[in-house]
Order: sequence, then C-alpha cells, then structure tokens
Amino acid sequence: MPPQEPIDADPLDIAPPVAADTADCPRCSKPAALCICDAVTPIDNKVGLLVLQHPQEQDRLLGSARLATLHLTNSVFKIGLSWPSLAKALGRPADPAEWAILHLGSARSSDLPKDRELVVLDKKGVAIPDQDHALKGVKGIVIFDGTWAQAKTLWWRNAWVLKAKRLVLNPRRASLYGGLRREPRREGLSTIEAAALTLSRMEQRPEIETALHASFALMLARYRSAQSHGALGDRAAVSKGSGGPPKKRWGGRRRRSAVSKP
Ligand SMILES: [Zn+2]
Repeated sequence: MPPQEPIDADPLDIAPPVAADTADCPRCSKPAALCICDAVTPIDNKVGLLVLQHPQEQDRLLGSARLATLHLTNSVFKIGLSWPSLAKALGRPADPAEWAILHLGSARSSDLPKDRELVVLDKKGVAIPDQDHALKGVKGIVIFDGTWAQAKTLWWRNAWVLKAKRLVLNPRRASLYGGLRREPRREGLSTIEAAALTLSRMEQRPEIETALHASFALMLARYRSAQSHGALGDRAAVSKGSGGPPKKRWGGRRRRSAVSKP
C-alpha cells in the first residue's frame, strides 16, 4: 500500500454535499431522509437469505428488501424476473433441495396449523406432518420482493423453485407498516419482517428478529417524520397509495389494484 499524502486541506474548503436531502443512498437506494444504513449492525446469519426483487417493484420509500440484506452478512439481493438456477441467482453453488422458498401460492392461510409461524408445504400445498424434520438442514431461504402478482410471476418464471421446499408464514403479530400500507390481513408482512421471522425461528435466535424489527421501526419513523415535514414531496403520496395498495403476501392472498407511479 503506498503511503498516503497527509491531509491538510482546510475543512472549510471541502464543499458540503449538494442537495443531500434529495440524493439517494447507494446502499439502500432510499432518499437521505429515510436512510438508516449507519444504524445497521450486520448479523452473521447461518441460514442464508436470497431476495429476488421483481423489476417493477419500485416502492423505494417503504420497501424493506435492501435493508434486510444489508442487515445480514449471508444474504444476496437481486433484481430480475428469472434465473436458470438457484446457483446463478445466488452467485455460488447451491442445491435448491436444501433451500426453502417463501410462497403461499394457492394455499389458504386458514388451512395452516394455528400453532406454527413457519409452515412447510408439500407439492399439493398441504402442511407436511413433521415440520421440524422438514426444516432441518435448510441452508437458506428465498423471498420474492414485490406484490402478490409479482411474486406469482417470479415463482412461475423460475423452474428451480419446484425443487426447493415451500414455506409459508403464519405470523402472530401484525406488520409494523400499520396504516402506512393498509393490510387487509395480519399476515401481510414486509420483506424485512418476513426475513426476520423466518430466520429467527429457523436459527432459534430471537435477536435476529429484534434487530431487524428495530431497524424497520426506525425506517418507518423516519418516513413518518419526513412525510410530516413534507420532505418526501409527491413521492410520499405515491407510496402511501390513495387506496393503500396491499403489498405483501407471505401468508395471505390479496390483490393490489394498479397504482400509477411516476
Ligand atoms: Zn442507506
């Protein structure tokens, strides 16, 4: 490493960042007012996380997928519609039979066992009798980031998902989104909440959920604060959605009406 030049510039000569409030963070892709990257302490998760984001998922203000992957050292975030294999999506060798995909499909949350928050389904969408055995040895989870319809597209465009285990969530507590996104059913978790619930249960490490929830709560607090100060301009109105587009569907089926975005 070459020796560094001594830094003797007058701090006052360094130009302040221009329009800092409108520049987007390169890590989380959020406007500076919503970025909480500096507050994130990454966690070494054993069960891997792969987030596949639909290219048209553009809820940059309230989206939590990038935040989830910033939080977890064993995680990959990709945008796209299809990949020839899990290994290609992940960027490293992987056997889909050892991974689980969060996807409700045509299963009905009312049919799920009431006493479990993670439920592994068989090919017919029926809960497997020995759940603990089914979850044993799972090396990673895949989460589709997008609306219910976008998740369905990702499922059908990636043939390798059929080789993986299928996992649905039956969360006991409602999403922190609260009124920001109107969730008709309590199962509608954000991506970071779905990752937190799944990984904390699979690894039996409640601290994963605590840490990810704390960051998500902070992000939402920033959002509410920025919104109340008008710092988000028109963008806040879009994210809030006049009809409050229901968004996630880890454990519940729901539709989202078309919302035009700029
Ligand atoms: Zn950021």
